[in-house]
Amino acid sequence: EAKKKGKANHEVFEPRMDAPALGRLRMGTDLRRAVERGEFRVHYQPEVSLETGEVVGFEALVRWEHPEHGLVAPARFIPVAEETGLIVPMGRWVLEEACRQARAWQDLRPDGPPRVMSVNLSARQFEHPDLARDVARALRESGLEPGRLVLEITESVVMNDARSTVGTLGELKALGVRLAIDDFGTGYSSLSYLRRFPVDYLKVDRSFVDGIGEDPGDAVLVSGIVDLAHALGLNVVAEGVETQEQLALLRGMGCDLAQGYHFARPLPSEEASTLLARARPLG
Ligand code: C2E
Ligand code: MG
Ligand code: MG
Ligand code: MG
Repeated sequence: EAKKKGKANHEVFEPRMDAPALGRLRMGTDLRRAVERGEFRVHYQPEVSLETGEVVGFEALVRWEHPEHGLVAPARFIPVAEETGLIVPMGRWVLEEACRQARAWQDLRPDGPPRVMSVNLSARQFEHPDLARDVARALRESGLEPGRLVLEITESVVMNDARSTVGTLGELKALGVRLAIDDFGTGYSSLSYLRRFPVDYLKVDRSFVDGIGEDPGDAVLVSGIVDLAHALGLNVVAEGVETQEQLALLRGMGCDLAQGYHFARPLPSEEASTLLARARPLG
């Protein structure tokens, strides 16, 4: 019944397994207020070179500092932000904040190693006609070099064969930013897009990395992804590295970069700054 209404009238949200309809409506209202009041925070998780152990980048991950519930994880509110379209202003803010932070870290040590900042884009952000303009503005206002910004999109976004996908990717590449395929391996299986689109990084989904120590099948898959990426001239990032054993296996496979709790959790900017100031290899 609610589903029918939801289809006919977009004001009504479809209830999901994780939250009753009323809760989601409430969350939609809270989210709108959160955008206005600036309740979002960006945490930064280091990306480590498996060759040098150096921090070569960060992924910006949004959190919501809810006045009553405290820090809320993105899995709890991104789906609602997508449905309501609030993901667009929220994502724009994350992009601006992450670019500012990346530039600030660069200014702290201008002769330090070049680091990239990765920012996630959801389908709705990617389809928004202002995306390239928003990215250009974030770069201009922060003074961050375009080549230091990586935009992460999922396979399903790229596989959506609309002509606009090609156009948008072209516009973004023309700005000089880099592109990563996030959660690689969990989406569609057609790989032809890797040749057609100007992708720079593959991020191997955590679900594969998880099992590489125990499950020979997972190890074969990840090793195959690394070889495929390298044959296509792409860099590979392993997501969700939690153990020394996984790290050693990934290194043996020739994986380029890794992120995960083994190195560091996503950190508030001050803590990430402290970590950078220590400047000791994490790997
Ligand atoms: P993602 O882009 O794949 O980000 C990686 C997620 O894995 C993050 O969860 C991170 O905290 C978590 N993670 C990293 N290392 C480990 C590990 O070793 N073990 C485990 N168990 N988890 C690890 P988080 O921050 O909760 O974000 C979840 C998802 O929400 C992200 O997945 C991304 O799809 C989305 N997201 C986060 N921030 C943004 C944003 O600013 N914009 C958009 N559109 N989506 C975002
Ligand atoms: Mg990501
Ligand atoms: Mg993702
Ligand atoms: Mg991912």
